[in-house]
Amino acid sequence: MSPTTGQDHRHLLAAARLVDDIDGQRHREQVSFEEGYRAGYDAGYEVGQAHAEAEMRRQWEDLAAQVRAAGLRRTTAEHAELDATAAAGEPCAPKCGTCSRCIRAAAVTRRGGDYDGGPTPWEAATAAQGEQGAA
Ligand SMILES: [Zn+2]
Repeated sequence: MSPTTGQDHRHLLAAARLVDDIDGQRHREQVSFEEGYRAGYDAGYEVGQAHAEAEMRRQWEDLAAQVRAAGLRRTTAEHAELDATAAAGEPCAPKCGTCSRCIRAAAVTRRGGDYDGGPTPWEAATAAQGEQGAA
C-alpha cells in the first residue's frame, strides 16, 4: 500500500464518516421525502377543492339562470289565450302586418276562420299578389 498525503488522509476520513452515517442519511432523506409528500398532497388537495368549488359554482349559476328563465316563460294558459286571440283573427298589438300573428290574423280574416287541418283550396289571387310584391 502506498503512503498517503495529508489531503488524501482527510478525504478518506470524510468518506469513512459518510459511510458510518449512511443510516442517518437514509433517515434524513426519508423524513424529507415524507415532509415533501405531505406538502404536495396538501397543495394538491387545495387546488382540487378550488376546482371543484368553481365547477359547482358554474353549475349552480346555470341552474339559477334556467329557473329565472322558466319564471319569465309564458304559462300554458297564457299560450292558450294568445292562440285563441290569434285564431280569432286578432293581429299583434302594434299591428305590424309582418309577424306570424299578423299573417295568421290576415289569413283568418281572408278565409273566414282559422286553419283546422287538411287540404285547402288554392288562393290564386293571393299568390299573384305575392309575386307582384316580390318583383
Ligand atoms: Zn304583428
